[in-house]
Amino acid sequence: MMSVSDNLQAIRHRISEAARACGRDAADILLLAVSKTKPDADIIAAHAAGQTAFGENYVQEGCDKAQRLTEAGLKLDWHFIGPIQSNKTRPVATWFDWVHSIDREKIASRLSEQRDAHRPPLNVCIQVNVSGETSKSGVAPDELPALADAVARLPRLALRGLMAIPEPTDDAALQRRRFAHLRQLRDELNARGHALDTLSMGMSQDLEAAIAEGATLVRVGSALFGARS
Ligand SMILES: *Cc1c(COP(=O)(O)O)cnc(C)c1O
Repeated sequence: MMSVSDNLQAIRHRISEAARACGRDAADILLLAVSKTKPDADIIAAHAAGQTAFGENYVQEGCDKAQRLTEAGLKLDWHFIGPIQSNKTRPVATWFDWVHSIDREKIASRLSEQRDAHRPPLNVCIQVNVSGETSKSGVAPDELPALADAVARLPRLALRGLMAIPEPTDDAALQRRRFAHLRQLRDELNARGHALDTLSMGMSQDLEAAIAEGATLVRVGSALFGARS
């Protein structure tokens, strides 16, 4: 059986090969370890192997882990990447450093209100639906500019970029097209005066395509921690 540390090394190798293939610097691509459903011991093992950024999908589970490990003295960066209901924003604003899954102004404004004024702003990405009808999460591309303007005005948030979860497919050309679309949307926002530095795209199956299209952060779960039951 492969250990978390072996897997981490293999993923880092995939990232550097993908970066090299398109002339990018692997140092510009952050690996987010998606630890949802996995025990604290796996997070501790990954941290011991040098991993610092972790992603969680479920509010209760993610906040419990972030609180426990923070109070145990581990200095990790916690990214929330799952759907958030409006009555669950407070613990996310408390325990996380990033939220990738903003798709409504209401959630963003609650997170901003609930973020402690003594802490750095909460970093956020807007989740965009780049797969059309096949996905329900994320803002539609034509509604993105208005949402980005609204989020950028919120005082306790820092709008950092865009996130997408395209439909799973083995079609490499389709993977590239979805990721290229997200990059184009980011470029359009920056041309209108935003300063987005983050493209959160690519997972275990498609991180090479995402890196080829400019991903600055890839979210990897099963290739690192094994399949989820
Ligand atoms: C679960 C999840 C991942 C990781 O997916 P893998 O295919 O296990 O790498 C990445 N991003 C989001 C939003 C997820 O929910």
